[in-house]
Formats: sequence, structure tokens, C-alpha cells
Amino acid sequence: MRDQLYINGEWVSPDLGGYMDVIDPATEQSLQRVAAGTEEDVDHAVRAARRAFTSGWSQTTGAERGQWLDALAAELEHGQEALAELEVRDNGKPLPEAQWDIGDAVACFRYYAGLARELDERQDQPLALPDERFRCHTRLEPIGVAGQIIPWNYPLLMAAWKVAPALAAGATLVLKPSELTPLTALELAGAADRVGLPAGVLNVITGRGGEAGAPLAEHPGVDKLAFTGSVPTGSKIMSAAAADIKNISLELGGKSAFIVFDDADVEAAVEWILFGIFWNQGQVCSATSRLLVQEGIAPRLMERLVQATRAITIGPGLEPGVLLGPLVSAGQLAKVLDFVAQGKASGARLLTGGQRPAHLDRGFFIEPTIFDEPDADSTIWREEVFGPFLCVKRFKTEAQAVQMANASRFGLAAAVMSQDPQRATRVSNELRAGIVWVNCSQPTFVEAPWGGMKQSGIGRELGRWGLDNYLEVKQVTEYVGEGAWGWYLK
Ligand code: NAD
Repeated sequence: MRDQLYINGEWVSPDLGGYMDVIDPATEQSLQRVAAGTEEDVDHAVRAARRAFTSGWSQTTGAERGQWLDALAAELEHGQEALAELEVRDNGKPLPEAQWDIGDAVACFRYYAGLARELDERQDQPLALPDERFRCHTRLEPIGVAGQIIPWNYPLLMAAWKVAPALAAGATLVLKPSELTPLTALELAGAADRVGLPAGVLNVITGRGGEAGAPLAEHPGVDKLAFTGSVPTGSKIMSAAAADIKNISLELGGKSAFIVFDDADVEAAVEWILFGIFWNQGQVCSATSRLLVQEGIAPRLMERLVQATRAITIGPGLEPGVLLGPLVSAGQLAKVLDFVAQGKASGARLLTGGQRPAHLDRGFFIEPTIFDEPDADSTIWREEVFGPFLCVKRFKTEAQAVQMANASRFGLAAAVMSQDPQRATRVSNELRAGIVWVNCSQPTFVEAPWGGMKQSGIGRELGRWGLDNYLEVKQVTEYVGEGAWGWYLK
């Protein structure tokens, strides 16, 4: 059992904060205790990360870092079955989804191993200047110490999205996983330890947001903050960063629209709609939680959608055949049930779900839920639920669909289904979202940029954009003209 913090290459007990329980959402029982890190622990970790940065890690070549990343990938891959099971117990998600996540995390480390190696070729690039008396080249240098704060919905995968590019760039880091799901991040530290990653390069502080996250965000020794989580916390992180002008990237919430046109194939549409809102119990920042259906296809589509939703098998994530596990916590369940109550009170029609399943007497389960025709200004249509909770509205014209989809303070993702490629292109160009899926919803690839517009965040993760988050660009300009330049000394 890992109940310590990983600081400077060592497992250490928390300085002051004591321990906290991690709960299995399927049983509501404690799984194990973990350290509740506090400001003192964060300070030790940031100092260790700084020492590691200046004492060698930032000077390593991309090829060397690529080897470390490959070693980490191999280590995670070696333990992937155990990691997937741990993720299920910690987070609640069905085992096949957890296996998928761990596979994606491994792939993420491998991908950034490749980008780290490429970085060596991108160094010292000459830049043509219009004045031949000057010669210029650019250097890509690691940003320094990164503070990385992540949520509970994809515990190891979110860690991989942040840790892998930071290491590839030559940065060092302090990772703060969610207090609800810290276990696989500790295993990542264990993997780093086993492969012999230099002390202080990767540090993991478990703990609560206010006690461990806030001191990390506020620490003057942190150069870069990378945060994934809710908008209110993102706003606090931004304020903390503003105090001493830290570089930030934010991946925040969403209320993403899924537009289905009359010419769509009903079966294909229903499959992607289900995947877009019930995968990971709907606890997905990019969940396509607002369904916009064109009037012509609506009767057939809605009948099939409700029927398929009712057929989803709900149960503990380790049980075979389960497609919907419990929500992550009692608090998340209470939040989703409150949205159900608000939906009912608002006059929207509850088509299916909305309650705890009768056959499960414990665990934070809720039936997959669909509300029909909520008002455009209702809470359930506007706010992120972060649960298996779909709202549906109908539209007549393409222009109306785009207007409804864009009428949101969020802009993370959107999906459009149509067999008319020109229409799909037109609509995807008009959608104000960082990610647009055409004839699908949610497929995510480490090569492609990830992030949102509007209140869904700042910056992009994944792909080469994810690496750029941890790089500074330096220009080195040299005067190569004859003698004095001739401004003061004519
Ligand atoms: P959250 O904001 O409550 O917590 C996220 C992390 O921030 C946790 O580690 C938490 O301990 C920490 N934290 C909390 N208060 C803090 C503070 N004052 N200072 C510093 N750190 C603090 O979010 P959550 O409930 O864990 O996750 C759900 C949210 O995350 C949803 O809104 C979802 O949309 C978003 N999310 C976004 C993406 C994306 O890529 N855009 C991915 C996953 C989740």
C-alpha cells in the first residue's frame, strides 16, 4: 500500500497533514489511506524539482529523455492489468474502459518519447533576418518547474497528458492528483522510482485541493501551472498565477453540443450519442451532453435512443458486461441527483433514468438519464452536470442548430452528424469549440490538439502543442557586421 508522498526520489510521510481515506465508489468502503499533503510538503517537492532542474535534468538531451519516457511506458505497460483494476476500484469506471485508459497512458509516454528525440533536431534553428549584419537562431528550452493539478475522471491518463510532455521538454514537475483518485498517480511515481528517474524530476503530492493544490498554485518556485478541472478552480489557479506571472494552461469544463441532421444514419447516430454521454458515466469534460436533433429524424432517433439507454448494464466496474459504473463519489452523486430535481422542477420531460438503480443497494450509481426539451435558459441545459445526463432539443434549420450549439459559455467540443460532407464541413467551421467531431463523438488521439475556447480553457494539450506548453523559445541574435555598428560612433 502506498500512503506516502514521493518527493526527491523518496517515499516520505506527510509533514503535518496526516492521512485521508480513498473510497471505492462501487462499495462506499475505504480502499486505503493516502497522505494528505500540505504546504510544507509542497514546498519540499518544489525545491526538489528546482534542484533537479538546475542540477542536470534541463541539460539532458532529448534523446536521453526519450529513453526515460520509453522506460516509463514499458514499466506502466508491464503493470497494466493491475493498474486498470486499481483505476476501477479508485474511480468506478468499467474495467474495459480502465484498460483502454492505461493503454492510452502508455501510448502517451511513447509518443512524447518520440517528440523528445525530435526536439534535438529542432534546436538551434537558424532564422533568416532582413539585415545581413545580424545572424539569429532559436533555441527551445525547458520552462522550469511545473505544478500539475489534475481531476479524478481519468486519473492515470490525465497524469500522463501532463507528465509526459513536461519530461520530454526537460522540465521537472510536482503532480497533485485529485484527492478522490490518487492511487494510480502514486503508481506512476513507483514506476519512475523503479526505472531510476533522477531524484526530484517527478514528485507526487497527494492531498486536498485547498491544502495541497492551492499552495502548489501559489508557490513562487513554480514556473508553469498546468491545470485540468472545473471552471471555479481554474479561475483560482489563474488568480494564483497572476500574482507572480506564472505561465498557465487550463483545461476546464464543457457543455458540448451534438448536432444530428435528418440525413444521419439512426443506428450510427445513437451509438455515438450513447458513447458521447454515457462513457465514463458521463464524467467527461468533452461529453456531448446537449443533443440537438433535426425535427425530421427526431421521432425515430429518440425512440431508439431511449430504448438503447434503458438497455445499458449498470453495476460495479469489475463485473463483466457492465457499461455504466458508479459515479466517483457521494458528492458527485448528490450533485447529479440535484440536477435531476432541477430538471423536473423546470418542466423538462424526463424520458428515462433520474434515479439510483433499484437492484444496487450500495455504491454511487445513477441510471442513465435523458431530459427532453428543457428551456434554453434552464440550468440543466446551460450548466455542466458531469454525469450520465443528456438533454435534448430539436431544431429546424442548419443556422438554428449552429446558433443553439454556440449559445454557451463553454467551447470545449462539439459533434455533427450528417451524410452531406459539405454541410458537415460548413457546420464544423462555424462551431466555436476547440474540438469538433464529424460523424462520431469523443475519439481522442495523443497526436491531435486538445483544449477549449471560451470558458473551457486556455491553451492546448497533446500533440506537439502539449510539448510547447513546457518549452520557452529563446532567440539568440549575433552581430556579425564589420567593426562598430555606427549609431553613436559614426
Ligand atoms: P476540481 O476543479 O474540483 O478539482 C480538480 C483538481 O484541482 C483536483 O486535484 C483538486 O484537488 C484541485 N483543487 C481544488 N481546489 C483547488 C484550489 N483551490 N487550488 C488548487 N487546486 C485545487 O475538478 P474535479 O471535480 O476534480 O473535475 C471535474 C471537472 O474537471 C469538470 O468540470 C470537468 O469538465 C473538468 N475536466 C476537464 C478536462 C479537460 O480536458 N478540459 C478533463 C477532465 C476534467
